[in-house]
Amino acid sequence: MPKANETVLEIDLSALTHNFNYLKSKLKPNTKFLAVVKAFAYGSDSVAIAKHLEMLNVDYLAVAYAKEGVLLREAGVTTPILVLHPQPVNFITIIKHCLEPSIYSQRILDEFVKVAEAEHQNNYPIHIKFNTGLNRLGFWENDIDLIASKLSRTKAIKAKSLFSHLAASEDKNEIEFTKNQIASFKSIAEDFKSKLDYSPWLHLCNTSGIINYPEGHLDMVRSGIGLYGFGNSATEDKQLKPIASLKSVISQIHNIEKGETVGYNRVYKAEGFETTATIPIGHADGITRIYGKGNGFVFVNGQKAPIIGNVCMDMIMVNVTGINCKEGDEVIIFDGLHKASNLAESSGTISYEIITAISQRVKRNIIPA
Ligand SMILES: *Cc1c(COP(=O)(O)O)cnc(C)c1O
Repeated sequence: MPKANETVLEIDLSALTHNFNYLKSKLKPNTKFLAVVKAFAYGSDSVAIAKHLEMLNVDYLAVAYAKEGVLLREAGVTTPILVLHPQPVNFITIIKHCLEPSIYSQRILDEFVKVAEAEHQNNYPIHIKFNTGLNRLGFWENDIDLIASKLSRTKAIKAKSLFSHLAASEDKNEIEFTKNQIASFKSIAEDFKSKLDYSPWLHLCNTSGIINYPEGHLDMVRSGIGLYGFGNSATEDKQLKPIASLKSVISQIHNIEKGETVGYNRVYKAEGFETTATIPIGHADGITRIYGKGNGFVFVNGQKAPIIGNVCMDMIMVNVTGINCKEGDEVIIFDGLHKASNLAESSGTISYEIITAISQRVKRNIIPA
């Protein structure tokens, strides 16, 4: 890998292949695989990721919002795309780009039927979302009759799948709750299917569901974080490879005396003669202020250097006292060895948040498999 000479997020497609194959190895051969590529494929590059997954024969993709799906279609991605959280204002766009909406409420169902009929659609694929305990989006069990009767009264749409989402699949203290969610989804699905003359696919598991609940795999699974290299547990993290490496460079080094302060509001005060390095990445790039004040850290020539003082919009200052380094040296914020999950945990957050936060200002460098 060439050394970074500016702030860059490297995306390693061979790590993505590895993670995809590892997660698939947990499934029965005929279980389908949906890759979640919302939020720029968890802060990486949704087009590069979707195209690579397409090449690996992924069955489905999912995004959160319609515009994320449009971006993929315009880049030439042809795999079916589920839109997890659509709004009526986007329904025409959704149909125009062959995106498939999650239908999560009566209002959304009525609005989508209206638009699909006006657009002269026939059996347009939709995915019906049930709430089984997350209490975020989804129909309730007692909506089944109503949905089934609405489906029977239109030819414009067809339920391609029924799905639900687990609330705590990574949490060993919530096994009973999760098993109840699985049972409740299975019973909803059976009841619903009995009212149709065809069989929609069923899907429920996210990454931690794939790992912890084989009984919930059903017809398809939906994985996001695992593809990007995190398994929500130390044992699974060992099997997966983070695909993204965030690297930067030392812009300037300062030697400061005891009592001098660093950065805005003079939050950090030197306890003796100290050396600081200024790095060109800040809260506008996704390194939010929670990583400041000594919580977060970077690696300079293999050594850990804490982020001192307040994080600025465009830069951070780190303490490199005693670390052999010079201006222009590479800095690792996270990579396959220095994991984003560790940095996230240092500051009270999770891998999902830190990786999706890396803003579009940071250059992406795609490393082919
Ligand atoms: C984001 C999301 C996923 C992916 O979850 P991971 O924990 O990243 O695997 C799956 N399903 C739904 C409905 C989601 O919103």
